[in-house]
Amino acid sequence: MRIAVLPGDGIGKEIVAQAVMVLGRLGLRLEIEEAAVGGAAYDQSGDPLPEATLAAARRADAILFGAVGGPRYDGLPRAKRPEQALLGLRKALGLFANLRPAQVYAELADASALRPEVVAELDILIVRELTGDIYFGQPKGIRQHESGGREGFDTMRYTEAEVRRIAQVAFEAARKRSKRVCSVDKANVLETSQLWREVVTEEAKNYKDVELCHMYVDNCAMQLVREPKQFDVIVTGNMFGDILSDEASMLTGSIGLLPSASLDAQGKGLYEPIHGSAPDIAGKGVANPLATILSAAMMLRYSLGQSAAAQRVEEAVRKALRDGYRTADIYTDGMKKVGTGEMGAAVAQRL
Ligand code: NAD
Repeated sequence: MRIAVLPGDGIGKEIVAQAVMVLGRLGLRLEIEEAAVGGAAYDQSGDPLPEATLAAARRADAILFGAVGGPRYDGLPRAKRPEQALLGLRKALGLFANLRPAQVYAELADASALRPEVVAELDILIVRELTGDIYFGQPKGIRQHESGGREGFDTMRYTEAEVRRIAQVAFEAARKRSKRVCSVDKANVLETSQLWREVVTEEAKNYKDVELCHMYVDNCAMQLVREPKQFDVIVTGNMFGDILSDEASMLTGSIGLLPSASLDAQGKGLYEPIHGSAPDIAGKGVANPLATILSAAMMLRYSLGQSAAAQRVEEAVRKALRDGYRTADIYTDGMKKVGTGEMGAAVAQRL
């Protein structure tokens, strides 16, 4: 199993080092190829996604990504900005399915903005389509309107094939969890959503062991804060998923804990924490490495076919939290305050 490791900028290097260390303790045969990406790559070669990095990503079975960006690069032209590396990787590798779990460990339920009993033991997965929808549909633009002023317009579009393939990802993921999918759309108003609903319903016939329900996006936004534990897997389009996945991440209270995956049609994926490069704490050894370690666990499950190893990592994270280990971002009185390396070591010891 070949993994391309792209640590990137800021805390990226620190947190990815811990995830790689944990992977190394699992007794699996992993071949790791590290490459520069983002600002670090720009500093070396003038390109945030050099050809050699893209080639390493193409060769690999999965990609472990840290984070990119930082104030030093904010003044660069758009094409040279570190964030372009991520967009370039998604496009070049056809990563169309974004998987974002939102999990709340009982020990950390107090960190949520919601009442602990509403979120304790929450475990949902949002599957967001990443390459279609109103963000990419043509035509779009700003034009002169006949009434005198200007008008802005975008086009929401999904082909049947695009809906079918994201539905398949959601049903497959549900099979590895508690076998329930909620498809979220706006079929009462949008034609695109009506097609979405029809195609998801058709596809469900191939997954008779998975229970499917449909929900309008406005209701889903409300249900996520009212009773989030009713959900298992949520599948939705690019725009609705963009909004709902951020809403769901806030249910957990700490972005330092949330992993994500972006998959292609063959299950190859790019795995990364949902947070950025946190320049404010970079180099201090205080960043929380758990989101990256949990991203590595997702990589084991979704791209490398190593579900048992994934579970070992997730359980070790849970034990470290249960034993009171806390980085500064999730620290509360009476707990053991640790840095990035100590948290990684606490997980590794509990594998
Ligand atoms: P951020 O996620 O980097 O940081 C937001 C806040 O959360 C900061 O206070 C930071 O210290 C804290 N934080 C983030 N991760 C943490 C961790 N693991 N442990 C402890 N605390 C953590 O978002 P930002 O400040 O808006 O962006 C900083 C840079 O990251 C920008 O250049 C931005 O473009 C980039 N960014 C990159 C990605 C990515 O690589 N996928 C995503 C988001 C932002």
